[in-house]
Amino acid sequence: MKNRWRSVIFIDLDNTLLHGPFESAVFPVAFRELAAKSGLDEAEIRRRVLEENLRRQQTPGIAAVQAMDWGDILQTVAQDLGAELEADVQGIVNTHAAPPYAVLLDDAGAVLRRLAREDRALVVATNGLRKYQGPVLDALGLTPLFTEILTPDSHNALKQAVAFYGDWPRKTQVQISVGDRYDDDVSAPKSFGFRSIWKPGVPLGPASTLAPRLRPDAFQYQAGQTIRPDAIIASLAELAAVIEQLEQQG
Ligand SMILES: [Mg+2]
Repeated sequence: MKNRWRSVIFIDLDNTLLHGPFESAVFPVAFRELAAKSGLDEAEIRRRVLEENLRRQQTPGIAAVQAMDWGDILQTVAQDLGAELEADVQGIVNTHAAPPYAVLLDDAGAVLRRLAREDRALVVATNGLRKYQGPVLDALGLTPLFTEILTPDSHNALKQAVAFYGDWPRKTQVQISVGDRYDDDVSAPKSFGFRSIWKPGVPLGPASTLAPRLRPDAFQYQAGQTIRPDAIIASLAELAAVIEQLEQQG
């Protein structure tokens, strides 16, 4: 099996391949319950929940798996408010893992099937826990299309740590990251020596008329975004051609 894979494509899930059930089902139910129990509005509940997630990610002593456990995060925020969350986060995920609550973007299934090659590994790279992402991948029919599914559970690491990627960087010649987040999917992968294909999810502006490989020079970056991706795509429809170009560069 040595050197079976020449290249590995690390592909993000949320806002790259799909929209999952957290924004469509889990958060609305949980935020409504906690708003009713606390007297705060739902926007303030959301702010507290996202802040607790960020705090956990930025605290070195907190394990990656705990940092991304939304059920536990929601329960912690509830307890801080003197309440207890009754909503069953895992249960809501399990029963809302298919359309219309979880949906594929850009005909993602067909795109992934077209990307399949004997010497190319397609690997999910998500900061979502396996217990939340697994049901969605299964329900949307994506699970069999991947060589491996990397989540924070896999190596107890988040995407901004090279440990997240296990031994894939060592056993392949070319590593390419595909995703929507600048920090997780562009700057971190580039710092590990991977190529990065960014799908920013915002209008590309003047860069939109250029080829994906030329857009990084014309894109309007935000302050502090000094590391550039190797290509910017507007849709997954552009992905296959860009991957082949980057692989040919070696
Ligand atoms: Mg994402």
